[in-house]
Amino acid sequence: MNDTSGRAGATASRVICNIDFDKPGKQVGYLRVPFSRNDAGWGTIEVPIAVVNGAPGGARAMFSGGVHGDEYEGQIAVARLARTIDAASLRGRLILMPMVDLPAALAGRRLCPLDDRDLNRQFPGDARGSFTQMLAHFIDSVVLPQLEVTVDVHSGGHGMESALSTNMHYLDDARQRERTLALAGAFGAPFNVVFWGVDEGATMPSAGEKRGLLAIGTELGGWGRVNVEGVRIAERGLRNVLKHLGMVDGVPDTGQRDGTATTRHMGVRSQEQYVFAPTDGLFEPRHVAAQDVSAGEVAGTVHFPEDWSRAPIELRYGRSGVLWMAMGPGRCRKGDTVAVVMEDLEP
Ligand code: CA
Repeated sequence: MNDTSGRAGATASRVICNIDFDKPGKQVGYLRVPFSRNDAGWGTIEVPIAVVNGAPGGARAMFSGGVHGDEYEGQIAVARLARTIDAASLRGRLILMPMVDLPAALAGRRLCPLDDRDLNRQFPGDARGSFTQMLAHFIDSVVLPQLEVTVDVHSGGHGMESALSTNMHYLDDARQRERTLALAGAFGAPFNVVFWGVDEGATMPSAGEKRGLLAIGTELGGWGRVNVEGVRIAERGLRNVLKHLGMVDGVPDTGQRDGTATTRHMGVRSQEQYVFAPTDGLFEPRHVAAQDVSAGEVAGTVHFPEDWSRAPIELRYGRSGVLWMAMGPGRCRKGDTVAVVMEDLEP
């Protein structure tokens, strides 16, 4: 019983965990995050977690889904892996969290409805904060220190659709960078995007990197639906990572539908690779994710059907490459990202 609520000091977690992280075999249970309601003063929100301890000596990894509630591929893939994996065939420790931001996932939305926060902007969290702050604090202070590797499965949510891809930060440490590139390559998505992050300090991968972990994420679909190929890539990718880390037997299968044998490594470094909406309006995209696009080509048009006096505005790509992220919901606001172009990674 890892009841961390009794720890002394200002940073002790209020989250109760009924899992013993060190016990051999497979356990499924919950992180109980206190949440007081009018009709339940001692209420808790139960966030599902599974821990699988196999033979000693293997790697220690966490696979997560549902950090954003409207991204479904990871929720499906991580939950199915938790139900099917056998401790007898595993080396090391695997922690599986299929619905990390549980209230957001049940509501099918990005932000947590209990505190209107984005869990992936809350790290390292706050032991005495709101729901997402307490959850981030528990993950950062109790879960991440046990680990060497995290794979956080995302997609584009309602706002965007992505080319099927893993992603990682550009790491200054050459050895960490090569190890992370190898991990992403083993996952085997069609693309891997190395990005020089904006607003990244408070994300879960950043929290892992600060603790010396190898951290990759994914973008496997979006537009508020389940991407069929995204689920296939997620499930294969998580199994591939277990093989790559030597946690299960086998060799990663990284073959692609187009006949290529491996992941195509890409980069997003320049602000010119982003297209922003210059004004509120109705955005008509010209391309879908994973299409080739060219600098100067029309990326889409912002329309104002409500106002005869306003002509539509054409937006153009600043760089050539492959469309990584494509906006889809129609209405855009001034300053929104409507497209992100990735370029082949220079060696
Ligand atoms: Ca996301």
